[in-house]
Amino acid sequence: MSKKIRVVPLGGLGEIGKNMTVMEMGNDAIIIDTGIMFPANDMFGVDYIIPDFQYLRQRSDLKIHGILYTHGHEDHIGAVAHVVEQFPDVPLYATPLTSGLLDVKLRDSSILTHMVDRIKINTFTSGDTLQVGPFKVESFHMTHSIPDCVGFGIHTPYGLIVHTGDYKFDNNPTDGKKPDYAKLAEFSSRGVILLMGDSTNADRTGWTPSESVIDEAFDRVFSKAKGRILIATFASLISRIRQVAVAAEKHGRKIAVAGYSMSRNVEMARELGILDIPDYLLVDLNKVDELSAQKTVIMVTGSQGEPSAVLARMSEGKHRFLEVEKGDTFVLSSHPIPGNEEMVSRNINRLLQRGANVIYHPLENVHVSGHGSREEMRLMMNLVKPKNLMPVHGELRHLHLHGELGREVGIPQENIFVVENGQVIEIDKIGVRLAERVPGGYVFVDGTGVGDIGRIVMRDREILARDGFLLVSVNVDRKTGNLIGRPEIISRGFVYLRDSDELLSQVNSVVENTLSSMDQRSNGRRRDKLQENIGKMLYNETRRRPMVFTVFNEQ
Ligand SMILES: [Zn+2]
Ligand SMILES: [Zn+2]
Repeated sequence: MSKKIRVVPLGGLGEIGKNMTVMEMGNDAIIIDTGIMFPANDMFGVDYIIPDFQYLRQRSDLKIHGILYTHGHEDHIGAVAHVVEQFPDVPLYATPLTSGLLDVKLRDSSILTHMVDRIKINTFTSGDTLQVGPFKVESFHMTHSIPDCVGFGIHTPYGLIVHTGDYKFDNNPTDGKKPDYAKLAEFSSRGVILLMGDSTNADRTGWTPSESVIDEAFDRVFSKAKGRILIATFASLISRIRQVAVAAEKHGRKIAVAGYSMSRNVEMARELGILDIPDYLLVDLNKVDELSAQKTVIMVTGSQGEPSAVLARMSEGKHRFLEVEKGDTFVLSSHPIPGNEEMVSRNINRLLQRGANVIYHPLENVHVSGHGSREEMRLMMNLVKPKNLMPVHGELRHLHLHGELGREVGIPQENIFVVENGQVIEIDKIGVRLAERVPGGYVFVDGTGVGDIGRIVMRDREILARDGFLLVSVNVDRKTGNLIGRPEIISRGFVYLRDSDELLSQVNSVVENTLSSMDQRSNGRRRDKLQENIGKMLYNETRRRPMVFTVFNEQ
């Protein structure tokens, strides 16, 4: 009897980010992608979020044979160090560029220093068929906003499971490699039991423009710019860097690369032959001042407003040696990821304040989405002709819309699985159905701590950020419990104490009244009551709810 297949989505469903899926056949398993997500504005102090993969630790009976990567974006590879730390002997499988990006990421990770050489990355070329344990997986080339992207056709006894990866159908891609339409059509002739399709742009009608429209936009920007040109994009967006190089060559400019991660990636991609920028077009960042402004292009990191990246530092005048000069043209060649809009706008405003010219979408077509719109999703389903559809890579609204589109192309309602992280799907000879739910939430990474801050810490940070805190320290007599002297009051982020005499004297009277009205032997109860009374009084007076702490010192 053939074994049951289980699809366990651990991330990327119900959100844009931290994509990770487990495929099981009996006790054998593979993982597709291990991504991170960037924190929302109200997740104070969180660096990034990784998928909750405690399920894999609980299933100690499961043999993981490999982690397969669709492409090199952070929302697909970013959590690799956290996953291989737990499973160091599981080999990784990726195309050349993705392997390079994974290697850079693993070597730069602080978690893995002692074991990085133990990790095996198997590089394959799109179109290759992989045998990963008992899983036979056919990779196929897809176009997106980064080169070397693949989707996977996974063999099962019940037909193929097709995972699209991130894609759009770009018929004029910058590297000339078109999507593998033939393979997709061929899959349909062999029978596809389940399609797991990218849903990111399910709310956009029509077709997503080709990456090559950016060439024309760059050409216009380069023709007009009088001074230096500074282009901000993702550190991993190798194809965009190539497009900049073409424009630079045409307009007689040379390129310098600023930002550690981008320099590392450019170096790696040139070594692998994926990025063909001739030596004479590149200049060292330290020598960039020797060029005239009209001959200079600088690639910078920080297009998402990240405070520690080059763009934010320049906009604040805090970069070690790059300063904004009047006449500079800054180009933001990326869309803000949801949640980053505010920080990106702040950067733009600060650059304008310093006299720079700033160009961003939609002022110019300097960025297009890497994800297919509704017509491309429809085309994908028509090519692959899946029996069942599982929308992936999107917020719930995107998954729903993708599901509706599936009905429009003729997939029966009961064969469409709009589910969120942790909902397991089972496939056997009878068909596809929902199984149990496993954990699929957030794990916050804050500095070196992984998963040590949860909901309660996050709520505290939210209160502290919104209303601040007030600390009241009272001295009481050890024997009698009587108050000694006046309490000491410390506050941050609530009111400026020097200007708040009246409020302070009200805090004092609450202390006196509360202490005199209660049994003097129980300082624990008095402390809680005092905290509550001060909180109430502050809310009545100020309509704010700072966090209130009281401390009793017995003397
Ligand atoms: Zn992507
Ligand atoms: Zn993605």
